[in-house]
Amino acid sequence: MIEILGTGSSGSAYIIREQAGSLLLDGGFSYKTLLRRSKGNLPNVMLLSHRHSPASRGEQEYISHRNKVYYGGKTNCRIDANGFYIVLLEVPHSVTCYSYIIFGDEEAYLYVTDTTVLPKLNGMNYLIVECNYSEQDITTDKDIHLKAMETHMSLESLLQQLVGYDFSGMKEIILINPSKLNLDRDRAIAMVQKQTGVVTKMADYKGGYYNG
Ligand SMILES: [Zn+2]
Repeated sequence: MIEILGTGSSGSAYIIREQAGSLLLDGGFSYKTLLRRSKGNLPNVMLLSHRHSPASRGEQEYISHRNKVYYGGKTNCRIDANGFYIVLLEVPHSVTCYSYIIFGDEEAYLYVTDTTVLPKLNGMNYLIVECNYSEQDITTDKDIHLKAMETHMSLESLLQQLVGYDFSGMKEIILINPSKLNLDRDRAIAMVQKQTGVVTKMADYKGGYYNG
């Protein structure tokens, strides 16, 4: 099960929960907010994608509460604490940034945020992937938006990279980090679902799933 605590520039954090354990993906909120939004059930291990405040705002506070943060390190590491097997991939962004392939007892997940590249993998059950803007929906000044365009995933690029992807075991695609100004969320969800044939959802800014 994938829980959304929040997404976007004001803060991103997600939880993967399985019977055997749970993992926090990024922690872009204060400890208090993370606790409240997870209803007091916050995992004790965080996988951090990169150190930009929407992803890492809560890192230090989270560590100070005796939790563990994984960021980089070995390219292949076993997180024994919660029973997950993690493979990390460095992906292009304006700072060092990682995508994580996460094998739980029950499912295999791919977590990709703040990059233009979707790693192509077989056998994933859940794809948690950034869909930040659409070239068609950009309402802010293009020059200002240029930096985001170079370091974030557009709907168009995502659709292109999903061509030929292995959807045989895929249960859901969860779109994350949508821009408030530069993406028509309904259209993005509909287009990804139509092209892939996989149930597609989008994380909502303040937690939970977007429902129109
Ligand atoms: Zn970033």
